[in-house]
Amino acid sequence: MKAGIVSALALLASVTVLAQDTRVTLRAGRLIDGAGGMSENVRLTLDGARIASVDRLRGEVTYDLSEFTVMPGLIDTHVHLTAHFDADGHTHDDPDETAEQAMLFAVENAYQTLMAGFTTVQSLGSVRDQYLREVIARGTLPGPRILTSLGAVTVDTGAPDEIRGYVRQLAEDGADVVKIFASASIRDGGAKVMSDEQLQAACSEATRVGLRTVAHAYGTESVTAVIEAGCGGIEHGTRFSDGVIELMAERGTYLDPHVGLVWANYQEHKDSFLGTGNYTEAGFARMQDARVTGYDTFRRTVQHGGVKLIFGSDAVAGAHGRNAEELIARVNDGRQPPMDAIISATSRAAESLGMADQIGTLAPGFEADLVAVAGNPLTDIDAMKAIRFVMKGGVVYRPVAP
Ligand SMILES: [Zn+2]
Repeated sequence: MKAGIVSALALLASVTVLAQDTRVTLRAGRLIDGAGGMSENVRLTLDGARIASVDRLRGEVTYDLSEFTVMPGLIDTHVHLTAHFDADGHTHDDPDETAEQAMLFAVENAYQTLMAGFTTVQSLGSVRDQYLREVIARGTLPGPRILTSLGAVTVDTGAPDEIRGYVRQLAEDGADVVKIFASASIRDGGAKVMSDEQLQAACSEATRVGLRTVAHAYGTESVTAVIEAGCGGIEHGTRFSDGVIELMAERGTYLDPHVGLVWANYQEHKDSFLGTGNYTEAGFARMQDARVTGYDTFRRTVQHGGVKLIFGSDAVAGAHGRNAEELIARVNDGRQPPMDAIISATSRAAESLGMADQIGTLAPGFEADLVAVAGNPLTDIDAMKAIRFVMKGGVVYRPVAP
């Protein structure tokens, strides 16, 4: 009888131990939590797709990342997942390309982006993004969590009423955000093209139907008009006055500037872009100017300290999977402090997407989206390229190579 009780207790104890062991645990040599905190020798315990606890307990773990720096899965708020070079090496202009072919390029881009440590992206955007968003969300195909604008409001969308109708249509079609082309392409000079009334229509209607807004805008005039129209975020920025910096800080406008990767990528792949649309020699010269003024504007913004800088790369063909190069450029050439740069690509990016309580921070209750890099990005930001491990929603998509 006594032996029976003992063995029953032993069985109970082993079941308890087993139950504990089924929880996935990770050990981080260094942990950057995404919200400004840094600690060492940390253990994370997961509960399915979420983080259950963060502590310093020793012992065996499922994934030993003690050699690495662990951070939240990175967030890129501006990519173009469908943008690609055709089979002949040129930017997409092949009229014979089928929808199936185009989709496979997008799948490839999504995979490269996830392997580079980006577990969430905002695509600004193609109508095809919605299929990719859904298939990745089903959990079989590896790719980042996708938010998309599906399309964009442009000067040609029409009068304010037509713009409001289009915004309602986007909401109905399942857009996560409204993208607005307030300015012309930088290759066409980047001047303000939408009227104040058009901008107000787009941003007020989006707010009314519960969608965020981001506006492609260059220059003091465009950026000021976008902020005055009540839009939530500025894409590119590139050049504006100190007065605009004050205005952004005052209104809490998110700024997603692109200072490094986008220009470097166009330059590296110049032959692949040249000859399509506004990718002309004059367009390339304008991009070179934008690169110089962009750094100057970015440094003034960083120095001010009050603007909500978020991370986006504007990844187009040739740049997918290289997203972190933009972060490196912002620190090395734009003089943004490394911790701020990391926050801009984690918790603050999450906040800008309305997901501040779900992703971008390594703390109990958040999604188990995390990456490990070799080295310490706080002292050498180039470490952001040395991705060694990627987990999204508790699933390992990139294990540490043996
Ligand atoms: Zn873009």
